[in-house]
Amino acid sequence: MIKNIAVIGSGTMGNGIAHVFAQHGYQVALIDVNAQALEKAIATITKNVDRQIAKGSLTEGDKTKLLAGIKTYIKLEDGVKQADLVIEAATENVTIKLEIFKQLDAVCDANTILASNTSSISITKIASVTKRADKVIGMHFMNPVPVMKLVEVIRGYTTSDEVTNLIMQTSKDLGKAPVEVNDYPGFVANRILMPMINEAIYTLYENVAGVSEIDTVMKLGMAHPMGPLQLADFIGLDVCLNILNVLYSGFGNPKYAPCPLLVNMVTAGSLGIKSGKGFYEYTAGNKDLIVAERFRKTVMSY
Ligand code: NAD
Repeated sequence: MIKNIAVIGSGTMGNGIAHVFAQHGYQVALIDVNAQALEKAIATITKNVDRQIAKGSLTEGDKTKLLAGIKTYIKLEDGVKQADLVIEAATENVTIKLEIFKQLDAVCDANTILASNTSSISITKIASVTKRADKVIGMHFMNPVPVMKLVEVIRGYTTSDEVTNLIMQTSKDLGKAPVEVNDYPGFVANRILMPMINEAIYTLYENVAGVSEIDTVMKLGMAHPMGPLQLADFIGLDVCLNILNVLYSGFGNPKYAPCPLLVNMVTAGSLGIKSGKGFYEYTAGNKDLIVAERFRKTVMSY
């Protein structure tokens, strides 16, 4: 029975995961090495709960209970003591994650399930640095966590049926729609999404059409809520490049090779929304979608 949760990393995903578990009555320990990140996470959760109250989906009473259910910690060993389930949502860096899982394996109760919210790192590899490989699993939430229904539940090569079933049920208890997938590069979501984004970038790079034309074709033609280039800016171009590199090296197939334009943009610090510029330009307070200046040239016809 899962009652106590620890979430490691209180950034974009960690605060959303803590929010959703606390909203469903779990006791949550939110852990981050950075005290400011923890403060920011609580402020973000409070703001998002206020939004739910304004929409009528939560009450002031729910808010009090929800916020009282989340305790923050800097030291991992202090936060995970009681945890039945730990969900790691720290920075997407394999060295950091392997170190965290080694530490978790050493300090957590032998029955504690260890999950990772990684977008692309192998669950089997993460499990291999622990002595409980049957209890290590992927729990890939989507951003923003309180809004998005999907949880990709990733079975590592060694994950047990019992742990998989418990995590599928726990995800349902959160009101989510879990989908069970096996542990291969990119899992399902990013294996399909990233080649589409990469192809959209190739389409721009080869001057087939401009930024807004490519996005319009996919929005109006395929009923996607956002075009692939806008979505890439939203995800972060550095994140897209990292995941494509995981697919490319994991499968050894040139079809996953990142477009040279994406590589150049990341090298130049043009990372999408987070840097203020990607395929579009972003300024505070402006909600219009403005194509970045260098992509505004008319497409050459031939
Ligand atoms: P983020 O950069 O917003 O937050 C990461 C947090 O981890 C930071 O606050 C950092 O201080 C903390 N951290 C780093 N090392 C730590 C350690 N050793 N112990 C405790 N905390 C530590 O990152 P994010 O976007 O929230 O991504 C987190 C994870 O979720 C990654 O694995 C990412 O691939 C995955 N993910 C992200 C998204 C997304 O859209 N952002 C979607 C799905 C999955």
